Amino acid sequence: MLMHVVNINKDVLKANNELAYSNRKLLVKNRIFAMNIMGAIGSGKTTLIEEAINSLKERYRIAVIAGDVVAQMDASRFEKLGVRTVAANTGRECHLDAKLVERSLANIDLEDIDILFIENVGNLICPVDYKLGEHLRVVVVSVSEGDDTVLKHPMIFRTSDLAIVNKVDISEAVSADPSKMKADIEQLNPSIPILLTSINDRISIDRWIEYIESYLK
Ligand code: MG
Ligand code: ZN
Repeated sequence: MLMHVVNINKDVLKANNELAYSNRKLLVKNRIFAMNIMGAIGSGKTTLIEEAINSLKERYRIAVIAGDVVAQMDASRFEKLGVRTVAANTGRECHLDAKLVERSLANIDLEDIDILFIENVGNLICPVDYKLGEHLRVVVVSVSEGDDTVLKHPMIFRTSDLAIVNKVDISEAVSADPSKMKADIEQLNPSIPILLTSINDRISIDRWIEYIESYLK
């Protein structure tokens, strides 16, 4: 029985990988740089994307696929910034998959877009297994999740391209040590770039935006 379940899962992931590859080809063909933003609910994914949009939208054409559980709510936050936004309805799923991204891409004029942000569903476990066709995987973790949260979710840190430890300004209030979180990430993935950010520290937000821009030139 267990064997059977595992086999189904393998087939599902294989089919997803194939679709992710075709999404990637479509993105490359249209010269779109796509980022998959993963992290728990409340880690600050939406806010970090909003900040990036505000800083980049004069120079780049941006679209967002909003897949968080409150997709419609987050989508309206992005729409207010004047960027093309698609709310991907995941239903009861706790992650985005390549099929949902394929459907969302069909609703975007791809030739008019330079950067695509994909806000994944708030979850640190299964988004790891589902490639979407993105160029870059970003994991956001906030100090309010507790400074043991990194070691509890090793795979997402091992498989991401950038890690952001967010809300570091409230570390003391939530008794979390962001330098422990950074050290834990380094231990899991020695080569991953790590940013410590706070919405109240403009310099830290600028580093996040500079990181994105480093892929656009
Ligand atoms: Mg969100
Ligand atoms: Zn899931």
